[in-house]
Amino acid sequence: MAKYIFVTGGVVSSLGKGIACASIGKILEARGLKINLIKCDPYINVDPGTMNPFQHGEVYVTDDGAETDLDLGHYERFTHAKLTRDNNVTTGKIYFSVISKERRGDYLGKTVQVVPHITDEIKTSIRKVGETGRPDIVIVEIGGTVGDIESLPFLEAIRQFKQEAGPACAINIHLTLVPYIRSAQEIKTKPTQHSVGKLREIGIQPEILLCRSEKPIEQDVKQKIALFCNVCEDAVVEALDVQSIYEVPLMYKNDGLDDLILNFLQLNSKKGNLRDWDSRVVRVLKDPGASCRIAVVGKYITLQDAYKSIYEALVHGGVANSARVEIVKIDSEEVKMHKASSIFCGVDGILVPGGFGHRGIEGKINAIEFARKEGIPYFGICLGMQTAVIEFARNVCGLKNAHSTEFDPKTSFPVISLLEEQKTVRVKGGSMRLGAYPCRLLPGTHALAAYRKGLVSERHRHRYEFNRDFKKVMEKRGLRIAGTSPSGELVEIVELKDHPWFVAVQFHPEFKSKPDSAHPLFKAFIHAALKNK
Ligand code: GLN
Repeated sequence: MAKYIFVTGGVVSSLGKGIACASIGKILEARGLKINLIKCDPYINVDPGTMNPFQHGEVYVTDDGAETDLDLGHYERFTHAKLTRDNNVTTGKIYFSVISKERRGDYLGKTVQVVPHITDEIKTSIRKVGETGRPDIVIVEIGGTVGDIESLPFLEAIRQFKQEAGPACAINIHLTLVPYIRSAQEIKTKPTQHSVGKLREIGIQPEILLCRSEKPIEQDVKQKIALFCNVCEDAVVEALDVQSIYEVPLMYKNDGLDDLILNFLQLNSKKGNLRDWDSRVVRVLKDPGASCRIAVVGKYITLQDAYKSIYEALVHGGVANSARVEIVKIDSEEVKMHKASSIFCGVDGILVPGGFGHRGIEGKINAIEFARKEGIPYFGICLGMQTAVIEFARNVCGLKNAHSTEFDPKTSFPVISLLEEQKTVRVKGGSMRLGAYPCRLLPGTHALAAYRKGLVSERHRHRYEFNRDFKKVMEKRGLRIAGTSPSGELVEIVELKDHPWFVAVQFHPEFKSKPDSAHPLFKAFIHAALKNK
């Protein structure tokens, strides 16, 4: 039987609950325990797939093609948990299921209510994750901040879950903020007291408080928090600000958080350490031998979260090369050809990430033209592959105004066009080509050199594809098809023959990169960037 850790957040949002859950997963895995995780999001969208990055940040895609919250990215980067669509529930998904059952007649005769029907559905979703793959511990992250109206049904569900599970089968960890007030030169505990008070009002007494703080929390302050929040003193765990998110598990381990959790859950396990993680990731990040600058050209560069997995995968590529990667964020709308050499001055590699919609497209194409002509290593991802094809068609093959039919449905040279399977699709939610598909790599390519195997599996999220009607003319001018679907039907990777490293992929390799095992293409891209310095 799996045991459960419910993680809630208080005081303010953005305390890094997702990273806290991923790090807890990491330190428990180091103890030899099998972990699974689930994120509960209180919004009414069935999944984040239809949301704009301003609303939600990145949409993370799992192997089974679910469009999920970006916290699942942290879970997969930190732990070995294999995540699927079951590992992310939303209010919308829960209601969708309950309302479908109601229409089917499953509740005939009854009034369908938030309690018990919605809360039961939430508990069933959580239990399902506990029954998949026989985990020892399931970490359940409740999105939002305690006190939000939206998250109440989730909190009531986990209250009941813990009550029903019985002693030592489930615990609550509350992530809170202990702010340092500069003018008073003092650390303040009141927000934490209020936040725990709010939790207790709805019947949840946390066992452990994870206190985010920019200053060390002295013992007397911990005593005070313990007394007023009704937790033991050693369960007030300080979570100091750190430079890199990958230090968080080491900090928790140092604080003895793993022992604390295992005590509460009455679990025995082997002693464990994070020596590998420390030497292979954290130490390299702190003391890299080299460094390079990578320009990411996108339209959401003001947002921290829009290209989360890409930024992380670049860092991983750096770790694999013992190098620090400085990410230069460039607004694609600003990239004009006559300004390119000043915009990309001192940049060692250029990456164009995925995206939707027309805004910023011409700037991306200009950035790619610059990378191609100047021999700067280029990595295109999804839309970054499609724009690379458009650039090549226009500027090398002379196909004037070539475009993707996503942006110019009437173009005379539709070098990127709608996937056949998408032509009859009318609904927007969860209807793209999504999730893992195999890709066959061709000999003599950068891709094969990076992966060192001929068949790989990568995650997708797109509606448009390389139009094979233009394959011949482009190949003749030096575009190399480096990867295709196994039947050869869909083009998955293109490269340039006469260029140090120009690789553009239709899939999203960033979703499969980990700090201690960088994705091969990110590793190779950073290697090329370092060589280009
Ligand atoms: N908009 C493009 C498509 O749907 C690219 C998608 C992406 O970059 N994820 O094919």
